[in-house]
Amino acid sequence: MRITIRCPICASRAVARTSKELSVTMREITYRCENDACGHIYVAHLEVVRTLVSSAIHNPGVSIPLSRHVSRREPVGGPQVAA
Ligand SMILES: [Zn+2]
Repeated sequence: MRITIRCPICASRAVARTSKELSVTMREITYRCENDACGHIYVAHLEVVRTLVSSAIHNPGVSIPLSRHVSRREPVGGPQVAA
């Protein structure tokens, strides 16, 4: 599955031309509109914004908010792991 965002000017399909990692939770992607009559080239961000299922791996260098939906079901500190 390719993640794309339509051209905000003409609503045509756009193709990612380049991307670079800005941080562990953010990428910057350069898109080019496929409508030759438009030709818009633009930059979008792809960002990790919240957790739906907590990772089984602890990484103290990364802080991603839990979804409000998840935080009601999981105890503070993450899910309990059955022994
Ligand atoms: Zn366009």
